[in-house]
Amino acid sequence: MRGFTELPMNTIDEIKSRVNIVDIVSEVVELRKSGRALQGFCPFHHNVNTPAFTVYPDTQSFYCFGCHAAGTVFDFVMRQRGLEFRETMELLAAHAGIELKPRTVEDEAQDRQRTRMQELNALAARYFNYVLVQHARGNRGATIWRGVISPSRRLRRFSLAMR
Ligand SMILES: [Zn+2]
Repeated sequence: MRGFTELPMNTIDEIKSRVNIVDIVSEVVELRKSGRALQGFCPFHHNVNTPAFTVYPDTQSFYCFGCHAAGTVFDFVMRQRGLEFRETMELLAAHAGIELKPRTVEDEAQDRQRTRMQELNALAARYFNYVLVQHARGNRGATIWRGVISPSRRLRRFSLAMR
């Protein structure tokens, strides 16, 4: 989900608070009330007999019982229109009457730096993983580590710690 961190969280929250998922979905799916939820035919898979697509106004989310597509209004618009997160933000902000600040040169520079850091971290993680798993120098560390966390979690946790 690239782009998510490009904007302050409060802009996303503001859009979420002002946009109703029911309105957005209703533009492309005919919804009927079913208890606290609304149902319609899923736009993401072949769905013609029983409406499998469900929208929950309470949680502002959707779920399809057929293809298991799920998420928020952002996920719906991104998938339904084939948009990037930033484009979705712009579209929903316009819908909600919120003006987004144009991206500055500083924003672009910060993005490039973030990407570079992520690449460096990934590289470092690969290197340490190599030393730990395959190199003789990593034997002691690997032995200690094996006793602490399960093998399946080892790589993941290590990668996370590197960020
Ligand atoms: Zn579906």
